Amino acid sequence: MAAVQNKTEVKHYQIYVDGGWSDAADGVTYDVVDPSSEEVIATVPRAGRADAERAVRAAREAFDHGPWRQTSAVERADLLRMVAEKIRERAEDLARLETRQMGKLFADSLIDMNDAAHTFDYYAGLAVEQHGQTLEVPAASMSMVVREPIGVTAGITPWNFPVLMAAWKLAPSLAAGNVMILKPASVSPLTSLELAKIFDEVGLPKGVVQVITGPGGEVGDYLASSADVDMVAFTGSVEVGKHIMRTGADNVKKVGLELGGKSPNIVFADADFEAAIDGALIGIFAGAGEVCSAGSRLLVERSLYDRFVGELVSRALAIKVGAPLDESSEMGPLVSKQQLETVQSYVEIGLKEGANLVTGGHRIDGGGYFFEPTIFIDVDNDMRIAQEEIFGPVLVVIPFETEAEAIRIANDTIYGLAGAVWTKDVTRALRVVKALRAGITWVNTYHPTYSEAPWGGYKQSGVGRELGTFGLDEYQEVKQINIDLTDEPLGVYQHGKEKPAPGKVVPLSERRPFARAEHAGESWVGSCRNCR
Ligand code: NAD
Repeated sequence: MAAVQNKTEVKHYQIYVDGGWSDAADGVTYDVVDPSSEEVIATVPRAGRADAERAVRAAREAFDHGPWRQTSAVERADLLRMVAEKIRERAEDLARLETRQMGKLFADSLIDMNDAAHTFDYYAGLAVEQHGQTLEVPAASMSMVVREPIGVTAGITPWNFPVLMAAWKLAPSLAAGNVMILKPASVSPLTSLELAKIFDEVGLPKGVVQVITGPGGEVGDYLASSADVDMVAFTGSVEVGKHIMRTGADNVKKVGLELGGKSPNIVFADADFEAAIDGALIGIFAGAGEVCSAGSRLLVERSLYDRFVGELVSRALAIKVGAPLDESSEMGPLVSKQQLETVQSYVEIGLKEGANLVTGGHRIDGGGYFFEPTIFIDVDNDMRIAQEEIFGPVLVVIPFETEAEAIRIANDTIYGLAGAVWTKDVTRALRVVKALRAGITWVNTYHPTYSEAPWGGYKQSGVGRELGTFGLDEYQEVKQINIDLTDEPLGVYQHGKEKPAPGKVVPLSERRPFARAEHAGESWVGSCRNCR
């Protein structure tokens, strides 16, 4: 399979720190490679600790002393809408760059740009819609709850959805009034730097959004450990997520984690055959399987198993793997040589474990990191290929006999990100999704999701939620404000004066809830101290 070679000029990018563009403090750069051609397409600063420290100082200054804190929710919403508008204006260019740096199909990159723009619009709306609370408290006082930003937030993102993952973090963080330092994955930093240009153009105060490229082990690690960073929102592997949680614990940093998955896609014999076959293929081969919520474990009811597997394999063989900018391609390359090697190593592991490889399993010759759509059948759920996230186009198929067995296998994993069920039996569908220990579930479909709905996992798939109103809550502190309306001292330490009588515990049965008659003008319902 020949990769399309697009000889292009190698462009140099800079990091965006403290409202300006610069190289790394030590001037070191690294190459960004197009995985479909193995061509270098850009160089970017390999920022280090000194650059990360500068970004954190600028972020602290912007949050603690800058004009950003004085902006109203309406002004923040306007800025977010302007960002959305500019993403839409540049969607094609951004999508092309996204595809070139990490290999997803151009059509998928375009969807990401639209979703990213929508995420900014959505949080622009929420920024002005959200409110605190007033509480029912004794008449001589008032109590309210207000929402406040957390402060300096860091967003650390993976390579599989660079712009979209950045949007899922930046939009709610800024809507809530925080500032954010974004650290994109090293292999795919270019579109995040293009996003920085957009933030620069819409006129955010300096230091409110910064984008810094460099190794996770150095830049990411510093952001996670710095006492001047109040929150880290991380999307990536479980291994790094655990490390971030441990590092952040030293200063009790708020940590949001969106981690991996090994999601079950459960097909019952009564499912619509065509829809379920399509859903099984989309579940694993969309995005070359480099999708956290991929349906990488396919559970098929035994009575349907042979027919389903036969059709699945013939359709997988027909998938056109090719250059991701070519509109006729149905699957692009893997993101990097390293990822290709990881996927290859799991094929070896599966074969050693005794799973039956029925299609795929090899790199495609001709340049680029292309890999065949791969299916293992007759897999035991205890095998490593069924338990570990491969993050590539490798499907494991597991047969089951009963609904109870399907649920047991589905939940027998350290992960809990997503899961789907295919059946025409409505009550069964609801029973199964209710039993799934996962944060994102589907019935008779796979993958659709919305900015309005919370995204995140149970168990080791993560902590907290992104998107929806839940996603905004993650970026906010809540403060209670209690106000005395009497202008009188509480009286406990008023020496020489009579102390207030101690309060009496009044059983519920003796309370007089309708005390209004004795206290005209007061709207008391409940245990009024003066009526006992
Ligand atoms: P990764 O964990 O290797 O890297 C993610 C980010 O963390 C990168 O920016 C990386 O540079 C940084 N990083 C690496 N080491 C670090 C350290 N010591 N301290 C701080 N930051 C560090 O993940 P990846 O390979 O880029 O992405 C794939 C993973 O992301 C998969 O496990 C996938 O399931 C997961 N993912 C999850 C979701 C979700 O929403 N749950 C979405 C997309 C991807």
